[in-house]
Amino acid sequence: MRKRDLLKSLIILVFIFLICLLNNELLKVIYPFKGDKYITKIYETANGKIEYPYFRDYGLDKKIKSYVIKLKDVKGNITYKASVVDDEFVSLIFFLPNYQYKSYLISLANLKEENINVIFKFNYQETLTSKINEMLESKYPAFIYNSIIDGKGDMYYLVENNQITIYFANYNITPTPNENFFIKLNYQEIKDLLAINYTLDKEYVNENIYTLDPNKKTIAFTFDDGPNKTTTIKIFNSLNENKASATFFMLGNRLENNQDLVTEILNSTSEVGTHSYSHKYLTKLRAKKRAFNINEPTRIMTELFNTTPVYFRPPYGNLNDKIKSEINMPIILWNVDPEDWKSKDAKTVVNNVLSTVKDGDIVLMHDIFSSTAEAVETLLPELYVRGYQVVSVSKLAALKGVTLEASKAYRHIK
Ligand code: ZN
Repeated sequence: MRKRDLLKSLIILVFIFLICLLNNELLKVIYPFKGDKYITKIYETANGKIEYPYFRDYGLDKKIKSYVIKLKDVKGNITYKASVVDDEFVSLIFFLPNYQYKSYLISLANLKEENINVIFKFNYQETLTSKINEMLESKYPAFIYNSIIDGKGDMYYLVENNQITIYFANYNITPTPNENFFIKLNYQEIKDLLAINYTLDKEYVNENIYTLDPNKKTIAFTFDDGPNKTTTIKIFNSLNENKASATFFMLGNRLENNQDLVTEILNSTSEVGTHSYSHKYLTKLRAKKRAFNINEPTRIMTELFNTTPVYFRPPYGNLNDKIKSEINMPIILWNVDPEDWKSKDAKTVVNNVLSTVKDGDIVLMHDIFSSTAEAVETLLPELYVRGYQVVSVSKLAALKGVTLEASKAYRHIK
């Protein structure tokens, strides 16, 4: 009897041993890998909850759980995105608080963690880097993309069958924005670099471009009394570098001598309005001279640039109902005046704007002072990190869904 018991135990032990040996393979039969069909599980910690994918694959789930455990001391909630790539890898990224990430690429063949370079062919680095830089440049203001391109930071990846999303963290960006920085690199852009089987999106539009968001706070920058060969160009360059635009209310008598500059602005996202011919108080002019001051810039612009000014801004805001009726375009006034002509000091202008500006405001400045150009250079990144879009009057009106009417005056567009 005792011998038979011993034999029985031995058989059981061998059986257990075999199961252990075949552990993964056997379990894979019982719980076959379900491809993309994972479910989300939640791991509650003392500091929050961690969401993670559960694939019903013993080894893989154990591996993922080990990553989850490592995150248990993180304060706040953690979400994730996951993807099965080419039936060979699981790509997993955790989104931690404060725009931090953890990402993993796990080989399904041996459950080893792989470096991102396994999805690329040899010698991919240079082309990939220039592609990333190009996309960052088209999506973000210069103060952001320059810091990411030049500075030291960390990249995290979500690899999918048609694209790779790259998240950027811990870059030294000043001023500091509060947002996720990422680009989506569609395989249409980098297919020659890939070492994996991929799917190409038939219809693909590069979405890594700067776009205006109707839900964001938006203000219009307007510049009067120009154009000026040095300061207007400086301001115009700042606007372009910061993915911003503005309305330049130019004097009619300055158009002819600045044709290249005006053409450049007309061909950009910014726009040209008129500030009358020679900056006179319109209410003090007789009808004939007044008509000339109002209409001559339109004639000049038609002749020189084959276009007309979009809006009118009266010098000094000087206006009455009769004059309004004589102006055959929307009249744009302002509700934020940092008095840049008075202080001629960049810091004062910056503070005046930042302390008063609200969604829908129209800011008045003058593109003829270098102090104003300097202020704009500081203001644009600062307004960006405060969640503002800085645009031309037309774009502000479009984002707010307002149709501007001729002979009507606007101080702000809400
Ligand atoms: Zn003026």
